[in-house]
Formats: sequence, C-alpha cells, structure tokens
Amino acid sequence: MSSIDAEITTIEKQLNTITKLYPDCSEDSQQALENITLNNSVLNEVIFIRSHSVICSDRSTTLTKEEVADLEIANLEPDEHYAIYKIHDKKNGKTAIFFMMYVDSGWYQIRFEKNYLELWLKEISSHHEVYSYIYDKHRKYFANIDDVNSRESIFYKTMRESSRYPVGISVGYTKPLLFNLIWTFLPTGILLIVANAFGITLLVHCFFFKRVPLYAEIQKGIHNKEFYAEYQPIVSAQTGQWIGAELLVRWLHPKKRKVMPDEFIPAAEKSAQINEITLQLIEQAAQEKAKMVMIDSPFYLSINVTASMIASPTFVGSVVELLKRYPLLQDGVVMEFSERENFSNTDVSQLQNGMQALRDHGIKWALDDFGTGYAGLSTLQALSFDIIKIDRAFVAASVTDSVTHSILGNIAQIGHTLNCQLIAEGVETQEQAQHVKSLKIQSCQGFFYARPMPFERFLAKFKIHSTPASEVSHSVQEIVGV
Ligand code: C2E
Ligand code: CA
Ligand code: CA
Repeated sequence: MSSIDAEITTIEKQLNTITKLYPDCSEDSQQALENITLNNSVLNEVIFIRSHSVICSDRSTTLTKEEVADLEIANLEPDEHYAIYKIHDKKNGKTAIFFMMYVDSGWYQIRFEKNYLELWLKEISSHHEVYSYIYDKHRKYFANIDDVNSRESIFYKTMRESSRYPVGISVGYTKPLLFNLIWTFLPTGILLIVANAFGITLLVHCFFFKRVPLYAEIQKGIHNKEFYAEYQPIVSAQTGQWIGAELLVRWLHPKKRKVMPDEFIPAAEKSAQINEITLQLIEQAAQEKAKMVMIDSPFYLSINVTASMIASPTFVGSVVELLKRYPLLQDGVVMEFSERENFSNTDVSQLQNGMQALRDHGIKWALDDFGTGYAGLSTLQALSFDIIKIDRAFVAASVTDSVTHSILGNIAQIGHTLNCQLIAEGVETQEQAQHVKSLKIQSCQGFFYARPMPFERFLAKFKIHSTPASEVSHSVQEIVGV
C-alpha cells in the first residue's frame, strides 16, 4: 500500500508545484504537465478544471465543456479532495479511469491508461504476492476487476486502505498465486518435513538404541557368563581382622573390559535381568566359598539383591533351589538390599515372606545404605534385619562435620536399639576407623582396609588378615555368627 501511496503522492506534489509556479495556464505550465504524463506511462492525460471550465491541460483538451460538466465532480462532498471514476468511451470503445485531485481551488483530472494502471498494480502486488485493486468511494472496483470478480477463488483475504487516497489493497492469494507459491515452496517444505521427521526418528532411535543394545548385550553377557564378583573385605572394627566380604558385581565385557555396576545395574534392574545375573553370582559364590572354607577362619559372604527381587516368589524359589544344591551356602551368607530402593512401595508382607523363606535356608539379612532411604522404624522392625550397613555419607562427614558427627552416633544408637549388628561403610581414613570403633559399631568396610578385588587376590589376602578359628575372639565370633 505504501508503494502505491508514494507514487500518487509524487504526482500530487508535482501538480502542486506546477500550480504554484504557473498560476495561469502558460505554455510553461502546459509543458510541465506534458512532462508529467510523458514520464509516467500510467498517466495518459492531465487537465486542470475550475468551475466546470478546463483551465489548463498537458495538450489540447480531450473533454468539451459539456463533457466536463457531465462529470460527477459536482456530486463530490465539499471536503473531498480526491475522487476516482471510470468512464467507458463509447466512441472508441476504450475505458478510462479518471483520478481527481483538488489543488488550489480547482481539480486536476488525471486520466489513467487503464491497461497500464492494471499492469502497474499487478506488478506491485505480485512483488508482494498479494492482490491489489483501486476503487471509488462506493468501493466500486476499477482495476484488476477480473480477478476481483472471481473473488471466491481468493484465499485468505484481508484489506488495507490508503488513509489519503481512494485506493485499497486486498491482501490474499488467488488460486493461481497460491499454487505458484506451493510449487515454489513445496520442495523446501517437503525437505523441511523430511528433515524434521528424520531428526525426530533419530532422537527416538537414540533413546531406544541406548537401551536395546544394552539389553541385548547384557543378555549376551548372561549367556556367556561374563558377570563375576569382586570381593571387598568386611573387617572387625575392634581387631581389624577380615571377617567377611561383600560381593560387588563386575562385567567382563569382551570389548570394554571391566564394566562397573553403575553402568548396567539400573538397566538390568529395569529389565529384571539382574535376577539372572544374581543367580549366576550366587552359583559362582558357592564355588568360591568352597575354596574359602579350606582356610579354617570364620567369615561370611554378603550378596547384593533388591527388595523387589525378594518380594518375587519366583526369584526366591530359584535362590532356594541353589541353596539346596549348594548346602555350603546355607551358612555364612548374608543378603543385603538397599534402603535407597523405596521398599515401602513393595508389598512388605511379600518381602517378609521372601526373607523368611531364605532365612529358613540359613540366609541372614542386612539393610544396605542405612540413613539414605525412607524406611520407617516400624518397617525396619517388621523386617527384622540382622545387620545394618550405615551409608558412607555419614561416615565420611562424621569427622569433619559436627552435625553429621552426632548423626552417625544417633544412627548407631538406632542400630543398637533394633538389636542389629552394625557395619560402617566407606571408611577411608584411620580417623574414621577410630571414630567408628568408639561408637561401638562392630564392623567396617572401606578403602582404608581394602578396595574390591578379584576373588583370587582376596583369597590370598584373607589367609593373612583373617584369624584361625581356634584363635577367634568372642566378639568376632559373635559378628560372624551374626
Ligand atoms: P554398594 O552396595 O553401596 O556397594 C559399595 C560400593 O561402595 C562399591 O562400589 C564399592 O566399591 C564402594 N566403596 C567401598 N568402599 C568405599 C570407600 O571407602 N569409599 C568410597 N568412595 N566407595 C567405596 P561399586 O562396586 O561400584 O558398587 C556400586 C553399587 O552397585 C553398589 O553399592 C551396589 O548398590 C551396586 N551393586 C554392586 N554389586 C551388585 C550386585 O551384585 N547386585 C546389585 N543389585 N547391586 C550391586
Ligand atoms: Ca551393598
Ligand atoms: Ca552400601
């Protein structure tokens, strides 16, 4: 709209200048008017009319006085400054469009070349990919009339009018315009859609990709018996003797070598593949325990499970079968599950049943990571653990932080109240070991004593750090016997 406005304003300015420069219709003013029409292909003729008389023109006038009198100028409102008319000249069969402009007590009558005007409008509109038209005060269309007549073929139409001139632009798409646009942008659109779809597919793929192969790989690992346990000693806080070991799973992956549990346990727990892995570990533990009993020292093995596994009668049934097959496991085996797994959601009575079924075959129970979960005291009492393993967070901070210092004491107190043996996890320094000892926590586990290690190394060290059965103190006997 602004381009059309600008064009008309330029003509208006030129006419104003001519009127000021040449108040009378001199040759100069005639020449100036002629220059305007010559320089603008849309303009056909410009004449100046005052009181129904042709005062001046770019050439000899084309309208007689009567014809001028016939014009509808008389019908113009007094405050109107612009008007537009369409006249069909019967003599030459041509249609002309007249644009009237009030300047200095007279009217400039500008005759537009209809075809050029339409071309000009079309050029502007096609540049903006819209449809434009010119109309009179009754909104009668003068240009591009054919397109406007087939308005039903215009999609999405909105109008913008000039605030100064009786000119309007209809913004919309005619069918051909729309198809043109579609054809122009279709390949890009299709490309974008394909790219988006590809991106989304890739994301979804990546999401499952990480899982599916992991699932398949774990499955392969189970099939090839790639899972094994490393042993981390559990020691007597009083004497420092090795009295047991926690079995920590590792995956001897053919390509990645040793894979730590945090990389596959979450997935294996989700897919319940952990059940099969644990059964394999228990079977291996049976063989390894057989080698340990040769050393006549009291000890126990602690195997990690989850509460939901123990709440499953099928899993418990499989473990019971193993315990029957390896009677060696019916003594000196502890199973631990973490307080982190919110087992209040697990059916507690199912859990109790599972624990009891295994207790009946000699298994003792330890609550792992105590202090990190939400298990209420009543639940803990109902499950009656034999051992409580205090999470390493409390042990680590107990010597540096005065608040956690007393928390460790309080946790130890709860353990004593529940009549459980206590193990402090994650003991890393002499100072921590001392502190744990002073709180009457019976056992410790942590890097201060030893890191998890393969069974063969553990066996060799166990020979040195354990106490022969004949020399075992009462306190150690008590712990190992739990
Ligand atoms: P967890 O049961 O709390 O096992 C103890 C973890 O603490 C082990 O990590 C061990 O290496 C680490 N640790 C031991 N002493 C120290 C210490 O002094 N300082 C520090 N910073 N860390 C210490 P690991 O072997 O990476 O095991 C991580 C977790 O994976 C275990 O935590 C356990 O929740 C899980 N896990 C390990 N083996 C099994 C398994 O056979 N079955 C199941 N369900 N979970 C397992
Ligand atoms: Ca554990
Ligand atoms: Ca733990």
